[in-house]
Order: sequence, then structure tokens, then C-alpha cells
Amino acid sequence: MTNGRVDSHTVLYGVIGDPIRHSKSPIMMNRAFKETGVNGVYMAFHVTMDTLSDFVRGIRAMGIRGVNVTIPHKLPIMELLDDIDAGAKAIGAVNTIVNDNGRLVGYNTDGIGYVRSLKEEAAPNIAGKQIVVIGAGGAARGITYALLQENPSEITITNRTSSKAEELVASLDGGSVKLVASSNDKLEALCEGADIVINTTSVGMFPNVSESPIRGEWMKRGAVASDLIYNPLKTTFLQEAEAHGCIIHGGLGMFIYQGAYAFEYWTGKNAPVAAMRETVLESLQV
Ligand code: NAP
Repeated sequence: MTNGRVDSHTVLYGVIGDPIRHSKSPIMMNRAFKETGVNGVYMAFHVTMDTLSDFVRGIRAMGIRGVNVTIPHKLPIMELLDDIDAGAKAIGAVNTIVNDNGRLVGYNTDGIGYVRSLKEEAAPNIAGKQIVVIGAGGAARGITYALLQENPSEITITNRTSSKAEELVASLDGGSVKLVASSNDKLEALCEGADIVINTTSVGMFPNVSESPIRGEWMKRGAVASDLIYNPLKTTFLQEAEAHGCIIHGGLGMFIYQGAYAFEYWTGKNAPVAAMRETVLESLQV
């Protein structure tokens, strides 16, 4: 362990966003460094749109090894980097930058982080499953791309604004997976037949915790109810689905594993996932 000591070999990492002071990434990633003995420090940088390109020059100038990127920079950062990984290109957003001796490469770990969490915590086998994704925003895009790599039989995307679900479906290559768009008014029937239902909207997020995108009893007993929200840790959607006999999966794991992949890309070491989760959980309970 480095015991939190900062010396002349300490490597700098960070997260950029606007706003950024709510971010749990610094406590999570600094815990990961401490746990694995990596001599690094991870900071939160409040970067506005008009200073984004200056910040990117700063990454190279200061030798910052890794940067996480959050709202509103996930798209605009792309044209400032030297290379973009194929997955991030297909998703159209970057949330992780690796600095290899001044060459900046962009990745997207949100979708693969979500899928790793889903498989480890709730649904070890996604192949052949029927999936309903509620919502068609940025998060839906990343997780649908990652879910497609797992060969489910079918993914249906529904959205309040159904044209956005159609646009999302049209922009992704489903391959052998049946990828279709629908609208929220079909959700009851769609949920009856689904093995996994995923809420990617903000419906049910604090402070509107009594709201839910669907009723839990619309789902098959034994199916997986998954919510990207982690505040609260167990949304009304998950509470109802659990009471109905479903397996539930909350959004905290996605946050932990998107950070775990970033840590692994930067350091080449396995991320100490349990310690990262413990630290974030502690911080959510204060
Ligand atoms: P976004 O791009 O703004 O998309 C929001 C989506 O929610 C859109 O599909 C929108 O539908 C829908 N929506 C919003 N309010 C709604 C309402 N009242 N009724 C029905 N649909 C509604 O946001 P995002 O970045 O995808 O994030 C979505 C959620 O995922 C947020 O709760 C966020 O906290 C969570 N998230 C979690 C993690 C994690 O690590 N766990 C990571 C990323 C995001 P319209 O198109 O009709 O507006």
C-alpha cells in the first residue's frame, strides 16, 4: 500500500465533468489505488465546455495517466483524442481516456461495466434471453451495445419519445439479435414475455422515489428486474419486482464496474471490486 503518501513518483488521474462535486469516483478510485499499492492520486476536476480543449492539452503536458469523463463531455471529448476504441465509436461516447506517453485513447466502459455487473450479480447467462430496455438515452445506448455482444435472442427498446427508440435501433448493428423499437404504452405486454427488464430512465431516482417506469407485477416470476439508478439503492421498480418473485439488480454495480474497467486499463491490475463497492456504499449512507 502507498498509505496515501504523495511523492515525486505519484501518478495523477481524475474525472472531469460539469457539475462534478457530487462524484463518488475520487473516493472509489483512491481506495482502489490504496488497496492495490498503486502510487496514484485521483482528483475531480470541474471542467467547463470552454476549457475542455485546454484540459486535454493539460493531460499531455502534465502526464495525467487516466481520465474519466462525465456529463456533458462524453461526446465533445471525442474529437480531441488521438484514437477511439471501436466500442466507444459505435456507442458514440467516451467515458475513459488512457494516456500512453502522450497518445490519448478513448474508451467507453459504461456498457461493459453494466453487463459485467448484471452477469456477476443477477443473470450469469444472457445468451438466448429476451430483454426489454426502457429508455433510449445515453446510458441505454451504451448498455444495448454491450448486451448485443452477449447474443441475447431479442432486445426491445421502448421510450417515452418512441422516435428516439427507433433512432437508437437504426443506429446499432443487431447482427443475429432481433433488435426492435417500441413505445412505453406497450410495456405491460412486453414485460410479460421478458427474461430481463432494464430501466435506463431517471424515473424513480431521488427525490422522486415513489415513481416507477413499470409495475413489478407485469413481469414473469423469476425474471430479472434491473435498474441503472443507484440512488436509492432499491428503487420502487425493484421493490415491487422483488415482492413479485423476481431477481433484482440495482445500478451501483454498473458504477463500480465502469470504474473497475478504467482502473484495469490504466494500471494493468485487477480492480479490487469489493473494496471499491464498500467505500461507495459507506459514502452513500452518510
Ligand atoms: P439521458 O440521456 O438524459 O436519457 C434519459 C432517458 O430517460 C430518456 O430515454 C428519456 O426519455 C427518459 N425519461 C426521462 N424522464 C422520463 C419520464 N418522466 N418518463 C419516461 N421516460 C423518461 O440520461 P442517461 O445518461 O441515459 O441516464 C439515464 C439514467 O441512468 C439516469 O437515472 C442515470 O442516473 C442512470 N445512469 C446510471 C449509471 C450507473 O453507473 N449506474 C450510469 C449512467 C446513467 P425521452 O427520450 O422521452 O426524454
